[in-house]
Amino acid sequence: MNARHKQLKKLLCLFIALNMTAPCRALQISNRYSPRNAERPRRKSTRYIILHTTEGPTKGSLDKVRKNGECHYFVTPGGHAYRIIERSRVAYHAGRSMWEGKTNIDQYALGIEIVGFHNRDITSSQYRAVQELLAQLQRIYRVPDERVIPHSMVAYGAPNRWHRHSHRGRKRCGMCFAKPATRAKLGLTSQPMFDPDVNAGRLVVADPFLQNVLFGNIRERENALKHFDSPDATVISASRSAWDIARDQYRSAETRYVFPNGTIKRGNQITDWKAIPPGTRVLLHGEEKIAPHAEESPATAGDAFTLKVSDNKAQWSSTIYFLPDKRIRRGDELSESELAHLPKGTRILTGYIQGGRITQNRSAFDICGEQWNDHDTIYRLPDGTFTTGNQLNENSIPGNTHVFFKD
Ligand SMILES: [Zn+2]
Repeated sequence: MNARHKQLKKLLCLFIALNMTAPCRALQISNRYSPRNAERPRRKSTRYIILHTTEGPTKGSLDKVRKNGECHYFVTPGGHAYRIIERSRVAYHAGRSMWEGKTNIDQYALGIEIVGFHNRDITSSQYRAVQELLAQLQRIYRVPDERVIPHSMVAYGAPNRWHRHSHRGRKRCGMCFAKPATRAKLGLTSQPMFDPDVNAGRLVVADPFLQNVLFGNIRERENALKHFDSPDATVISASRSAWDIARDQYRSAETRYVFPNGTIKRGNQITDWKAIPPGTRVLLHGEEKIAPHAEESPATAGDAFTLKVSDNKAQWSSTIYFLPDKRIRRGDELSESELAHLPKGTRILTGYIQGGRITQNRSAFDICGEQWNDHDTIYRLPDGTFTTGNQLNENSIPGNTHVFFKD
């Protein structure tokens, strides 16, 4: 046996051993190519990999990125990856962008959309999938760890009513992927320590909190993350403008403004930005108006009626009522008089399937499949509290937990 044969045999043994001992599954990637794929030019070079968070649930986000050809890969909460644009072609994911003086980063970068939110952790299945996907792509294109960066690092904004100069801070997309602990779990061991374009005077800092999350020391980073998690992070105040909250989505029809008097307007319906009263809450695209897990929308019966859920959907089977005494009723189980006298504190969820209870023989996966760890899948725990699929510890779901998933 010659040396080369020996080497091959050794590799083969190692491969078999790894497969027998490693519990992790190989990354599954399937094709969901965008109708735009074929028309996209080939990319001249690949210097960066940009990480995005969808800021919305799986289905709507997947439909959107496919329609517009907005990324190369899309990773679901269940850890499945889809190809959207061929990796050799240009995808439009970074928008107005600059890094190391280069603009239009789409020409130099691969883009991965990960279903999740900029200020929340991703699922353990996503960690596994993204780590493997990155390892493959970094090998192919020779991209070092410090050039695998969040979208918020490269996005910049043109001067607007709040900032007179071109500025960093247009987006918070993918912000969580600047956390060293998160990066370590993805196998990334180095990252940019400063903003090259701010340092060179090409851009100014428009969002000091974001800048601290991206480049701060441990303490600055922790404090800045708290700022993004605070309950009034989405409320307009003297120190928090519509732009601070919604960024480049402030004028979007998808962004809704809930005024203190209860009226709701969309971003594209607002003309006088100075007239928005403090206390106005900003709901971004993808956020549920009525979600029992969100403290910002208590979704009591009274609220639901003012939101007009009662008008046409009150008796739908997809409208779920959580009564204060822990009973759960579907709209089609309630009479008109019961609906008219819902106790105060009833929480209401619309557009959901009542999946039933988790038991020893019936797992969350049995009930709703891949959706089990989506952030819009809702779990009502036996103690009456709520949690969402992405925050659930898969190994400690108590029996008698009820599952509700999107229609
Ligand atoms: Zn993005």
